[in-house]
Amino acid sequence: MTGQERAQKMIAGFRRDGRLPRAVLFHGPSGVGKRTRALEWATALLCESPAKAGAACGNCRGCSTAGRGAHPDLKLVGAAYQAALLEEEPETQRTIKVDTIRHLRREMETTSLWGGWKIAILEDAQTLESAAANALLKILEEPMPRTLWILLAASPESLPQTIVSRCARVPFNALRSGAVEEILVARGVLAREAREIARLSGGSAGRAVEMWEESAEDDEAPAKGDPLAPFEIAESLPRELALARKKAERMIALEIEKLRLAHLEGRVPFSSVGPALLELQSLLRALKSHADPRAATVLSRIAIEGLDS
Ligand SMILES: [Zn+2]
Repeated sequence: MTGQERAQKMIAGFRRDGRLPRAVLFHGPSGVGKRTRALEWATALLCESPAKAGAACGNCRGCSTAGRGAHPDLKLVGAAYQAALLEEEPETQRTIKVDTIRHLRREMETTSLWGGWKIAILEDAQTLESAAANALLKILEEPMPRTLWILLAASPESLPQTIVSRCARVPFNALRSGAVEEILVARGVLAREAREIARLSGGSAGRAVEMWEESAEDDEAPAKGDPLAPFEIAESLPRELALARKKAERMIALEIEKLRLAHLEGRVPFSSVGPALLELQSLLRALKSHADPRAATVLSRIAIEGLDS
């Protein structure tokens, strides 16, 4: 991964010293990898057979569930979490409420279900309401053993000083344009397009991916429920085979990202995302070994048809 070497070093340092802080604040602009790094770190801590350097094995029960936010001892607290808790819509969750923090406190106080760490990742911590911030402060003042709170926020100044002073701070920077470009290319965006979008992204990979999706939407949006749509999309691929393959690859890579995100945000259960993800990944592999891009595109649209809610 690219672009947050300083943050990575600090996290590795906590691990090496064997003295994890009870609370950590990841601060920096949105879309630069704070949540990704928090999930990676949580996964490494929850891994049941970590490598010597404390790296996650990627195969065990801990890794496979933590990586997709489904580990019972990992709480990924964002709009979807609070919406489910309060039985409201995710779109209406603008602030973190005191009831959410109280609920989390009870969750974090119970014994670890799988016998390891208990970890809470609090997204957009700058939106804590004042009662919620007070409740969180009380928790951080009497830390529980083997629990880790990772707060993600725009800046230390955006949180009450009392909370910040309880946290080890890990700064995240705006990404270098080249790092954003690499992230886009890894998602299948053509190099020239990636360079252009990276320049406009202001160092935010999240923003860059959004911009790319917006620019791709016009010619790629499938007509929902139209049985001919998969074939029409396949027909709209460039005539030239190598270009068609590239474009098919990036469409499928984008759908994989969307499904992962939908699942992480709790919009779709893994039971329904899983089979589609497997199918899309195998189509992507097939494309790389020269499968027909039009056929792969049709199959990919069929795999995700009916999943989107
Ligand atoms: Zn593992």
